[in-house]
Amino acid sequence: GPQIFGKRTNSKGFDLTDTRDLAVIEAARAPHMETLFDARPRIAGPVAGGLRLDVINPATGARVGNVIPAAAPDVQAALAAATPWSAAPAERAAVLRQAADLYEQNFGAIFALLAREAGKTLADAVAELREAVDFLRYYADGADGLDAPARGRFVCISPWNFPLAIFTGQIAAALAAGNAVLAKPAEQTPLVATLAVDLLLQAGVPATALQLLPGDGAVGAMLTSDSRVNGVAFTGSTETALIIRRAMAENLDPTAPLIAETGGLNAMVVDSTALPEQAVRDIIASSFQSAGQRCSALRCLYLQEDIAPHVLEMLKGAMAELTLGNPWDLATDVGPVIDAEAQEGIAAHVAKARSEGRVLAELQAPGQGTFIAPTVIRVAGIAEMGREIFGPVLHVATFKASAIDRVIDDVNAMGYGLTFGLHTRIDDRVQRVVERIRVGNTYVNRNQIGAVVGSQPFGGEGLSGTGPKAGGPEYLMRFTAETAPQIAG
Ligand code: GLU
Repeated sequence: GPQIFGKRTNSKGFDLTDTRDLAVIEAARAPHMETLFDARPRIAGPVAGGLRLDVINPATGARVGNVIPAAAPDVQAALAAATPWSAAPAERAAVLRQAADLYEQNFGAIFALLAREAGKTLADAVAELREAVDFLRYYADGADGLDAPARGRFVCISPWNFPLAIFTGQIAAALAAGNAVLAKPAEQTPLVATLAVDLLLQAGVPATALQLLPGDGAVGAMLTSDSRVNGVAFTGSTETALIIRRAMAENLDPTAPLIAETGGLNAMVVDSTALPEQAVRDIIASSFQSAGQRCSALRCLYLQEDIAPHVLEMLKGAMAELTLGNPWDLATDVGPVIDAEAQEGIAAHVAKARSEGRVLAELQAPGQGTFIAPTVIRVAGIAEMGREIFGPVLHVATFKASAIDRVIDDVNAMGYGLTFGLHTRIDDRVQRVVERIRVGNTYVNRNQIGAVVGSQPFGGEGLSGTGPKAGGPEYLMRFTAETAPQIAG
């Protein structure tokens, strides 16, 4: 259960400058606290279950726990039991706020699972818990005063790269709107999802309004093709979003929405007026933080040609300062990628570039675990990349000042539209580029990751998503049914 790694009950929240909170984290890091954690379906009825599987720590190969995935009868039982949450909106809001408090109080267990199951560094884990709690409170605020009816049964399918924050954000919005949720966490991260659901149930969400069905894509396929489902929230690859859309087209309520957050091929443009020290710091964070496993991450950097050699030299110097290792070590900047399959795919991409003499900089990966060392690869332009490489691999191209509009057009032509970064001190240029680029989130003179709930709603357009933006004012309404237009009399 949620208390295995220690828990504070005397006050809410956590504070990394508070020695008592640091003691909880120290206790959770201690080797004897490597308690195995069990995940299984949380459904309103008896569980059939599939074969028990190991959950592996990507940094060490050690077993973190076990998961019993949902079997077909569990999916059917959960769909049959799913009952929209009929409590008044203010009551739902109160329960979600209570869940936010419980998340904060259980930070030791949450950080431990984020590190051990998902390979998150402590800094990433802190930010992720913060974001999850923000989602709970933001959508709770949205539920207060909501007068649109729920849609009914919502399937929420979430990714391993934010196994707490995105998992919680989808569920919190669907619940705030009064739906019954059937949650399918990523195959790689069932443990932190189980803990989150336990905390939500403990806060007072009815068991028929929130059911957890861990498993692989087959569980997602059963859920999304079922005619009882009234909407799907999905974050993951663009390919999987297309599969879900097809399944929904054949089998669902014709009005059921698909709310999809998908991939990106994100660029940053740095012109010769940029401050190189600041640009380099923001390039490093945008490409290598979270081992590049964010859909917002920088994939293709465009440097104005006259500053490119200088910025690349500085970038190499800054990369050499990065520490790769076990996410639980406080010194670690870059942890592992999620699993061996991801590692092999990214390594093959890097090996091809190496054989073509296009690797400009490369660090050394630790001998064990599924690591990819931060790497910089030269490209002529973003079109050469073809697809999203979901790891700590940065592609770099150069451009002439006169060709900046072409660069923006090339980025737009890829069809994605998630994040974009711009480093320049020319105000007119900011204006022009922001008008021309077709993305959901543009960041000027800063890094391009880490959108903040409520103040920086996050989401893309084109191949990157259907909108509305997560953590923004429109999101909750998509989880409700249309209401009749109000005609002023
Ligand atoms: N919201 C995250 C950010 O702004 C990215 C979410 C994702 O990777 O799906 O960095």
